Amino acid sequence: MNYFKLEKPVQFLKGVGPVRSESLGRMGIFTARDLLYHGPRRYDDASTIQTADSLEVGEEATIIGIVRSRGVISTRSSLRIFQAVLQDESGMITCAWPGQPWIERKLQDGDIVLATGSVRFFHGRQLQPREFVVLGRSGSLQETVGHSSGHIFVSYPASEEVQQWVLRGIFEKNLDDLLSGIAEEEYLRPSDREGSILGSILKELSLLGMREALQALHKPDSLEKMEQGRRRLAFDELFLLQVLYAMGRYRQTTINTGISFQRNKKLIKPLYDSLPFDLTAGQVKVLREIYEDMGSKRRMNRLLQGDVGSGKTIVCIFAMLLAVEGGHQAALMAPTELLAEQHAKTLQKFLKPLGVQVHLLTGKKSDEEKRTVLQSLENGQAQVIVGTHALIQKGVVFDKLGLVVVDEQHRFGVKQRMALGDSDLLPDILLMSATPIPRSLAMALYGDFDLSIIEGLPTGRKPVKTVIYPPNERTQVYEKLELELMEGRQVYVVYPLIDDSDKIDLRSAKEGYEKLCKEVFPHRRVGLVHGQLSSAERDETMKSFISGETEILVATTVIEVGIDVANATVMLIENPERFGLSQLHQLRGRVGRGLSESFCVLIADPQGVAAERIQVFIKTADGFALAKEDLRIRGQGDFFGAQQHGRDPVLKFADLTKDEDLLVEAQGRARSLIESNPGFESKVRSLIESNPGFESKEARLSKEAQLVAELLGCRYSDRLELFSVG
Ligand code: ADP
Ligand code: MG
Repeated sequence: MNYFKLEKPVQFLKGVGPVRSESLGRMGIFTARDLLYHGPRRYDDASTIQTADSLEVGEEATIIGIVRSRGVISTRSSLRIFQAVLQDESGMITCAWPGQPWIERKLQDGDIVLATGSVRFFHGRQLQPREFVVLGRSGSLQETVGHSSGHIFVSYPASEEVQQWVLRGIFEKNLDDLLSGIAEEEYLRPSDREGSILGSILKELSLLGMREALQALHKPDSLEKMEQGRRRLAFDELFLLQVLYAMGRYRQTTINTGISFQRNKKLIKPLYDSLPFDLTAGQVKVLREIYEDMGSKRRMNRLLQGDVGSGKTIVCIFAMLLAVEGGHQAALMAPTELLAEQHAKTLQKFLKPLGVQVHLLTGKKSDEEKRTVLQSLENGQAQVIVGTHALIQKGVVFDKLGLVVVDEQHRFGVKQRMALGDSDLLPDILLMSATPIPRSLAMALYGDFDLSIIEGLPTGRKPVKTVIYPPNERTQVYEKLELELMEGRQVYVVYPLIDDSDKIDLRSAKEGYEKLCKEVFPHRRVGLVHGQLSSAERDETMKSFISGETEILVATTVIEVGIDVANATVMLIENPERFGLSQLHQLRGRVGRGLSESFCVLIADPQGVAAERIQVFIKTADGFALAKEDLRIRGQGDFFGAQQHGRDPVLKFADLTKDEDLLVEAQGRARSLIESNPGFESKVRSLIESNPGFESKEARLSKEAQLVAELLGCRYSDRLELFSVG
């Protein structure tokens, strides 16, 4: 009974027992299966492991040795340093952990340790480990190294209670037996379903079978083999996630059929002819995709991405016009009142000449004004409406809503996004994201949407010049600002405020503001916006800047990212090292929107902590490239909110910086699976509906994930609650 073998509580595995099983439970490992899917976090190839006598000062090195002596010393500056002498076949080397005396508790004499770090000179050569792993707690070096599988040393995510060498021991005793519990026949290689959509996946994508993959993960005979194993497990994760998304998409776009919009040339052609510029090839391409989607009977569920300044707004206007031409209403929803007003103005500019009225609905409007707008929405007179989330509140009734565009969608909560889908009217939906994210991340986060990406920027746009000045040259920078101001231009000065409650940051912004007002630019009008102002105060300051009355705007937040002031030519950023690359890019995108040359000035130590990242920012103008770099630096966990609550990441094996190809395959196959087997979705739905009701949407989602995994026959993990992606 293979199934039972893997469902066995870990307690009954060799070398575990009741005490350790409790500790393993605290790591989320309850069953034999959980253990088997507890993948290593680090691999060291024996050929890259050096000997103690070969280490050279200045290099990065990894060694394996036995702890021969250890202790904490204090320097004159009272820094406490833990030191341990490691011995291998070639000789001895001192390892030192400055400022980490507590390591003493983690290492014992006789431990066999793998340590990685840089080699320094301090009374002789010493290794300062960045990372170390206790491979064994007893026995000879030879034995431990010999025990270790082939030439690759694996290290597991361990805990205080269950240490590395314990986990390694447990795997050594049980791995072969556990692997025999994985059937040769599996859902991606079923003997009786040859030729089905799933049956040929492994072969077509050259992926390993599950048993072989797990073997490669725990006991690889090369790093290449390990990578093959990881990719197989990554595919399973991505595929399951995409099947869930595909069901959502199927429900939203196929079961709930949409409107098939028809063109009649009454508005679109005149707009096209009246444009003062040609659409870029990138704009034309995404517009084709959108029109095709809107023209089909399926409901549109689409995410529009493009770099800052790529011209998303005009694309969205064309989409709205198709809805209006077909006799429907179109709505554009923005995250703030100010952005809504700005959009309304832009839309008006393009649409008024065509005889299309643009209405605005925000929370701020007087009751009287609101009533008038609501009425015209209900009786169908209003064709185009712009607003904040006031648009999706109760009491807003549309006559014939055909399309909803959501700008800066990431700033709306999931609930607000869902509210769009729940509407009885089933409009087509177009999300627009302000900051580009890498394609792989978009597919992982918005798998139920189709993607349109605007490639390139309009030609003739002057790139924003990005420069860095050390803090002690601020005066020169201010002189340059004054030159711009004398030309009648405007300037932004931004301070980081990552967290609204961060008092220190707020103080530095306020002090900066005071200094600019009183000492540096006493003859200029300076405004200040930060998150603790009321929205009325904030709007007022912003408006004064938009109108040109305020010349310098000091800001602590990026709340008004979409704001468009063509006359602003300098974006000065204090402490840029505290922003993410995408955030910096978004800020930089606020200038360079007019005809004059614009600058993004960073005040930072060019040799400081984030020097490398800042150099990347200075050299790269492409928002997608910066987003990729951001993903690489920050890691994907950030985006899934997975680090919170100490939960496992949603994607344990998949790596969005490496696995875009797998993601594309997983999504394509998941979609055809669901669309060519309508019974699958309805089966899941009826099983869900036969449940007595769920506490939350998350609970429902995880149940659904579990059912899907069971129906597919992919019992990959017992902890599918992880799929409740926000
Ligand atoms: P974003 O994609 O950042 O929202 P916008 O839609 O605000 O960009 O467009 C930025 C500016 O570029 C606007 O002033 C817009 O009118 C202009 N624009 C849009 N498309 C083109 C084009 N094809 N050629 C020239 N300018 C364009
Ligand atoms: Mg925009």
